[in-house]
Amino acid sequence: MHSPLRHLGALAWKRRPIQLTFFVTRRCNANCPFCFYLQSSAPAPPPGAELDLDEIDRLTRSLGSLLWLAFSGGEVFLRREIGEITRRFYERNRPAVMLYPTNGMLPESIRDSVERIVAECPRSVVLVKLSLDGVGAAHDALRATPGSFEKALECCGMLAPLLARYPNFELGINTVFCAQNQDRMDEIIDFVAGLPGPVTHTISLARGQLRDPSYLELDIGKYRSAAERLAGRLRAGASPMHRFRGAGLKAAQDILQRRLISDTWRARRRLVPCYAGRLNLVLTETGEVFPCETLPSSLGNVRDHGYDLRRLLRAPAAREACRAIAAGACHCTHECNFITNILFNPRLYPALASEYLRLDRP
Ligand code: SF4
Repeated sequence: MHSPLRHLGALAWKRRPIQLTFFVTRRCNANCPFCFYLQSSAPAPPPGAELDLDEIDRLTRSLGSLLWLAFSGGEVFLRREIGEITRRFYERNRPAVMLYPTNGMLPESIRDSVERIVAECPRSVVLVKLSLDGVGAAHDALRATPGSFEKALECCGMLAPLLARYPNFELGINTVFCAQNQDRMDEIIDFVAGLPGPVTHTISLARGQLRDPSYLELDIGKYRSAAERLAGRLRAGASPMHRFRGAGLKAAQDILQRRLISDTWRARRRLVPCYAGRLNLVLTETGEVFPCETLPSSLGNVRDHGYDLRRLLRAPAAREACRAIAAGACHCTHECNFITNILFNPRLYPALASEYLRLDRP
């Protein structure tokens, strides 16, 4: 497996991205009112505007090795070349972990794509996260997508057998915590714990500009309770951990992260430094590059910089944006950024170590 330890240098030098989120498409076959991406004011790109394979191949040459590559969308598996796209990154950037969130609406084609990817990329952990925001009809209602609960379960059932066949495959569930399901988190957590697996479970706090802002009327105390319930299961060894090296550390980071997220939400300001733009980058399907998913100003488009991300990041506008971020002008609760903001901040190591020592590890 590609070792995460290759990135220890980023502790001292935060000079190049090691975590990339790539929105491969805006197309989606669900209709979730809490999707910050599809509800954003950016117009849908015309057909043919998505970066093609050749363009993706060129931009992978300008990225070094990656710790974490997260595909996103839209529905990731609607991008027919997702296997080919993965292979470009796998060969050039050797990610330790590759993440594929999905709504599970296309079980057979998702299973076929995932099996191809895990077989072709044995040195990366391939983490597929199915969305499950409620149990039964509650999930369909929340996502405004009839039949989506049954499809997600069918997909989970089709993917689970791959766990025994591929040690680099990991199956997880992600639940968006929002006003509409915050009273039902115990039920959801218990339901996920009973799925065929092992299946990991994470929760994400609803965020961003939404078509229906009522989803953001959160009771952060309820988020904290759900986070504690998940932490208790991890500490007791009742929940599976990740399948990559350093899984205990990642479990400790997950626990600490949820605490920091609720503290940040309450304080409404940034509580720890953010490495967006330096360790993390976001790339859209049309080649726009952002420091994170929250800030609206693009650092530039790879098409205007010869598909060279390093050149794009050296441009004055990008440098100025990264300086403003480092100065602490913004805040958010986005989980992806908290991963690096915790793991690459030595000041948080005492808290991380304390969580690590509380885990009941084999
Ligand atoms: S704190 Fe949040 S909004 Fe600000 S740069 Fe970091 S990830 Fe983006």
